[in-house]
Amino acid sequence: MTNKVYKNKRLLKALNNFRKESGLPDIVVKRRRCLKCDKHFTSLGIWNRLCEACTRGNKQEDTVEPYALGKN
Ligand SMILES: [Zn+2]
Repeated sequence: MTNKVYKNKRLLKALNNFRKESGLPDIVVKRRRCLKCDKHFTSLGIWNRLCEACTRGNKQEDTVEPYALGKN
């Protein structure tokens, strides 16, 4: 997902309505400081406290190589 959608307020509102129905927290676009590297980044909500680079770093730990299994 790109950050472009979060700059479109009407789209963001629609997205938040949908998230509310799904029981998910609202997206609140705000400049926050990353908890890990202290860099300022665009946060999408209170649950989003790590910058993009650190989030990616976290996720890499449990990324499974999808093509590692099977055909040889
Ligand atoms: Zn960071």
